[in-house]
Amino acid sequence: MALESEGKVYLGNVDVAAKRARDLLLGKIPLDKMVDWATSFSLWPVHLTTSCCSTEFAATFAPRIDGEQFGALPWVGPRQTNLIIIEGTVTKKMACAVRLTWEQMPHPKFAIAMGACALDGGLFYNSYNIVKPWQVLPIDIYIPGCPPRPEGVARAIVELQRKIRSKKIASGWVREGWRPDREPLIPTEDLCGWAVKKV
Ligand code: SF4
Repeated sequence: MALESEGKVYLGNVDVAAKRARDLLLGKIPLDKMVDWATSFSLWPVHLTTSCCSTEFAATFAPRIDGEQFGALPWVGPRQTNLIIIEGTVTKKMACAVRLTWEQMPHPKFAIAMGACALDGGLFYNSYNIVKPWQVLPIDIYIPGCPPRPEGVARAIVELQRKIRSKKIASGWVREGWRPDREPLIPTEDLCGWAVKKV
């Protein structure tokens, strides 16, 4: 059945339409750049609160800073989000919830850790019940302060966008299916084992 005529593709031949679209995109548009650009302006942080820094996270998306202007929109479901912001301390019990949330998020995904507690333990540096965020997730950006101001959170989002574009992280992840610069993390079974054993 002839489905092409005078350069047009008629509805009904999906294969021909898909081939033409693919040729057009790959031939005329730098697809890598487009993926990185689109991802950097579509960062959806998942709603997950670990500690008191979360008030500053909330303020970042209030009218004064209006985090949505940077292309970031907090969302409830992990399966529709691609950014996790660790808000301060992570206890061993909470580490399991953080990891399970991370595992439900689709690739490519990113993580920001905010607050002194997320850097080195902060106030709770010698506490028996905390774990460092970098042991739970691969962290892309750290924000210092106790707590960091909303401007700091906004700055971190902008820095993450720059990092995604300059290092071609999103397009590389889409192409390769993984990210090579990941730190070794504590296995999920161990993280969740703590939640069960240590009460
Ligand atoms: S850095 Fe300060 S505000 Fe943030 S979780 Fe730690 S104690 Fe709370």
